[in-house]
This record gives sequence, structure tokens and C-alpha cells, in this order.
Amino acid sequence: MNPESKSLVESFLETLSRARQSLLMLDYDGTIAPFRKNRDQAFPYPGFSLLLQEIVCTGRTRVVIISGRDAHELVPLLEVEPRPEIWGLHGLQRLNRDGSVDLAPLDPATIEALAAAESWLIYQDLQQTAEFKTGSIAVHWRGLGECDAEALRGRVLLGWKPIAKTTHLHLMEFDGGIEIRARDADKGDAVRTIMSEMPPGTPAAFFGDDTTDEHAFEAMNGRGLSVLVRHRYRATAAQVWIKPPFEAFDLLAQWLHACQGHNESSNETSLEVNV
Ligand SMILES: [Mg+2]
Repeated sequence: MNPESKSLVESFLETLSRARQSLLMLDYDGTIAPFRKNRDQAFPYPGFSLLLQEIVCTGRTRVVIISGRDAHELVPLLEVEPRPEIWGLHGLQRLNRDGSVDLAPLDPATIEALAAAESWLIYQDLQQTAEFKTGSIAVHWRGLGECDAEALRGRVLLGWKPIAKTTHLHLMEFDGGIEIRARDADKGDAVRTIMSEMPPGTPAAFFGDDTTDEHAFEAMNGRGLSVLVRHRYRATAAQVWIKPPFEAFDLLAQWLHACQGHNESSNETSLEVNV
């Protein structure tokens, strides 16, 4: 971490230690869990579930997972009790702590465009590479060699590019695949909604790794800490870059420590995040 990021983080943690409430938003795959070809085996990095559970149990941090996956897929993987709120499908879906689900409705044009994107995959006999979700289709090439991945990408784009061009759908590449999805929501919308539910000045952070997390970083800037969790640096709107899993674990451990050191007599008016 460079000196500027380090001082930003230290100042944030100081604010956190004086706050009665805070907000921790985390992407899942690549951020708190390693990528796995078999996605239903992508459990969090060792120690992360317990650490998040301890943060939840302090009662001082609202923990929210914001993922591109269907939120229900993450329930058996997270192993955090009580289970935090999970926002799935890049913010289209909200799985509340009581098990209820809020799902943003899709307009008929979006449904039709997604059906066209699915038809292309069927025509190309590529449906086995795809993950079909509400509001999006993702094709994965993790585990394939570079040439095979490039060939698959080319075949998908051949059909999907014209669809994205003439409809409301949005094409987005991520680490290990490509997704075509409704423009109706992104992780930035999720961050803005969640933050609007917290009292003004609540210390808040978002941790993410992928290009789909950039909307969330942008939504955080000026209002909290944005953290890129990635082995290799890339251009990003995030303020801080750390590597998984150890640096991410260390920062979350400091978060827990800051919450545990909360000072009851602290002055609420001094809780603004100046980042
Ligand atoms: Mg990710």
C-alpha cells in the first residue's frame, strides 16, 4: 500500500473506531473468495467467514454482500451466521436477512433482448458455458486455455455485440468471462440505495475486484472508502489497492479491531468520513 493509501486507511479506521454504526459492503468472487471453476465450491478464503461473522456480531457494522451472482447461490457458501444481507445480480435482487427477496422488474424489451442472446448461444451450441440469471446471461471461460477462451469469446461476441447495440442490454467483460445484462441496475445503484438507508456520515466501505465493481467504487468516492482487491493492479476508481487474501484479511481484521474498540462516549458529530 502506498503512503497516501495507508494514511487514508488509517484515518478511516480511526473514524470507524469512534462510530456507533458502520457499513461494510463486499463483492464475493475474487474479493473474499477465490475463483473456482466449480462455482458452487467457491467458499471464502480461510478465516474470512469467521472474521465477517465476528464483525457482524459486534452489532456495529452492517455487512452487505453485493455480487453479480444470484444471491441464493451465496447462501450455502458464506458460512456467516447470522447471514448478512446479500444483493445479487449486480443489484437487481436483494435477499434480506429475513429471507424475503426484492427483485427489480424487467421491462418486456429487456426480456426479449435476453431471449435473443440466449437463442444465439443455443444456435452456437454454447449454452453449457453459460450461466442464466434474472436480467443477465454470463458466459464463463475460466479453466480453458488462452486460445480456446479467445475463440469462445469471439463466437459469443459475434452474436451478442449486435444485440447489445440495438437494445438496452449492456455487454461487460469480467475476469474469466463476459456478461450481457439489463442496464436497469448496477452495483453503483446498490451502493447508493444501501448508503441512503444509513444515517448521514456513517463510515462506509466497498471492497471489490472486478470491472463490474467500478460502478460501486465510483458511487463510494467522496462518501467512503473504496478498495480494489486484486493480485495485479489495474486502472480503477478505487482509492486503495490491496492483494487477496492476506492484505484483505488484514484490513478486515483491523475493521473488527476498530469496532471492538468503539468508544461509547464518542461524539456522533465527529463521525463524518473525510475521504
Ligand atoms: Mg468479483
